[in-house]
Amino acid sequence: MALPRLLARGLAWPGCGRALHRAASASAPAAADFNSFVARTNTCGELRSAHVGQEVTLYGWIQYQRQGLFLVLRDFQGLTQIIIPQDEAHTHVKKLLSDAPVESVVRVTGTVSLRPPGQENPKMPTGDIEVKVETAEILNSCKKLPFEIKDFIKKTEALRMQYRYLDLRSFQLQYNLRLRSQIVMRMREYLCNLHGFVDVETPTLFKRTPGGAKEFLVPSREAGKFYSLPQSPQQFKQLLMVGGLDRYFQVARCYRDEGSRPDRQPEFTQIDIEMSFVDQAGIRRLIEGLLQYSWPEERGSITTPFPSMTYEEALADYGTDKPDTRFGMKIVDISDFLRRPDIQFVQNALSYPCGTVKAICIPQGVRYLKNKDLESLKESAKSQFNQEIMDITCRPDGSLKSLLTKFLGEKQQSELIQALNMQVDDVVLLAAGEHKQVCSALGSLRLESADLLEAAGLVLRDPTVFHFLWVVDFPLFLPKEENPTELESAHHPFTAPHPSDTSLLYSDPTKVRSQHYDLVLNGNEVGGGSIRIHSAEQQRFVLEKVLKEDSEVLSHLLEALKFGAPPHGGIALGLDRLISLIVDAPSIRDVIAFPKSFKGRDLMGNAPDYVTPEELEPYHIQVSWPLAEKEAKNP
Ligand code: ASP
Repeated sequence: MALPRLLARGLAWPGCGRALHRAASASAPAAADFNSFVARTNTCGELRSAHVGQEVTLYGWIQYQRQGLFLVLRDFQGLTQIIIPQDEAHTHVKKLLSDAPVESVVRVTGTVSLRPPGQENPKMPTGDIEVKVETAEILNSCKKLPFEIKDFIKKTEALRMQYRYLDLRSFQLQYNLRLRSQIVMRMREYLCNLHGFVDVETPTLFKRTPGGAKEFLVPSREAGKFYSLPQSPQQFKQLLMVGGLDRYFQVARCYRDEGSRPDRQPEFTQIDIEMSFVDQAGIRRLIEGLLQYSWPEERGSITTPFPSMTYEEALADYGTDKPDTRFGMKIVDISDFLRRPDIQFVQNALSYPCGTVKAICIPQGVRYLKNKDLESLKESAKSQFNQEIMDITCRPDGSLKSLLTKFLGEKQQSELIQALNMQVDDVVLLAAGEHKQVCSALGSLRLESADLLEAAGLVLRDPTVFHFLWVVDFPLFLPKEENPTELESAHHPFTAPHPSDTSLLYSDPTKVRSQHYDLVLNGNEVGGGSIRIHSAEQQRFVLEKVLKEDSEVLSHLLEALKFGAPPHGGIALGLDRLISLIVDAPSIRDVIAFPKSFKGRDLMGNAPDYVTPEELEPYHIQVSWPLAEKEAKNP
């Protein structure tokens, strides 16, 4: 028996059972009864030495079976070692369990006993005991699997998504989904029980909202008329405030037809919140309290209040509106050190209306970055931002090596070294040009070089650390990317201007700051919201005069604002992204039970799918097939 037992100790998921057990029990009420309403006496993660001598009934999947001697049974809560009887009276049970393929689902009854001394498995929560089987039943046998249910076995994501129900059996996905459920439960408790929020479901069949993401259309039986799937419950939550609900929240499903974007989903979930009579500080305190209350114990604690930064600061220091503040390498303005008539490219850059010269300093870049890394960083700034980059390195004797140094005297060089806090072997990347372009390019290089440094072994970002940050004072409007002479809302058209900038709305809307705030976690936007416009006239002005939208589509909202709409504001947290950061998942797909592929397809059920012309008829719709598809369908 010794050999198989030893093998059993080297189980595929050492320690995972413990994590799962924690996830299943951490925030669940202490008294949660996992065995109510069913015939099992215990789960597979539950038995300990205190149960020795008890007759138990377990249900689970065969994780592993060894030479007809023992098997490991798995369920949502953990693993239990089952000893297959070898005596003649149990020949039938032995044959049943020895022949059953892995992942078959079985019921066993037996007696809990201590493992023989020295054969305990401290990595398994149930590692002190084993169950000696008395009876067993194969409830359903498992055919040959498309992949092994083991987290460490590599499989393509397409295969995982095609057999999602099998992938869901993995410890990691079980853990992610259970933790997600507990966090949402804690959020409900905090919002509804502690702070009087009302959970209201809002429609998913609605009409187009102007501005923002593209929405999915749903045909209706009225010829030519379509519903839209809301990109968020924005209008409804504001209308609930007009309706006097005062404090609303919803675990809301949102839909955005944004085409194939990596790590975005066409349907996703928000913790959607709206409050009457609130200001920005109130919303911030609410969210800080909410996250602190629902934060899983096993991820350490988070400190509140979260720091905040203006949009302008975020752009200037980090080149993005969602700065990763877990590490330095901030962007430094070095225009003043290089303001010399003989440095032509600097002169050119500074002649722009918002001309600037800025740089980031990559610590130990000489040691950790290869020449080809530096080339690829420069190439990426060129291709993504049309921005040239110059590099400067700090030699072991402290002198600078760069095309630039011949223009700089010793004093200027040492001023530059000081401004950038350069040490021996550091590499500086320098960009000259228009402020926003330079900052965006350097912000992107900052993240790319951090990835390169980490890939080469330097630890910059501790994966167990969570840096929350509020970004505030966004501009109310930004130039449209496709046509910079027109404006679009930086957040959405219902966002109120900053109180001190209201008059600018009518004279120079591009200069207006907004009451929009974003919540950033480790460089990812995990939430955003605003104080809303509650004056019908101001809302109409923004829609018609600034955004040039047809306000008719929003006439119901404009009218509602005239009937004593209270001042109000809110926020939405992106639940999928938040959970994926908490569990350190590589993708948001790993915290969604049935995600779509990056092309928006359900690879398991094969959606979207064709429908027949007869099914389309009530909707007055005909498909006009692109030629290639027509030929493929009717060869
Ligand atoms: N509806 C907004 C969004 O989805 C959030 C908000 O303004 O409350 O981004």
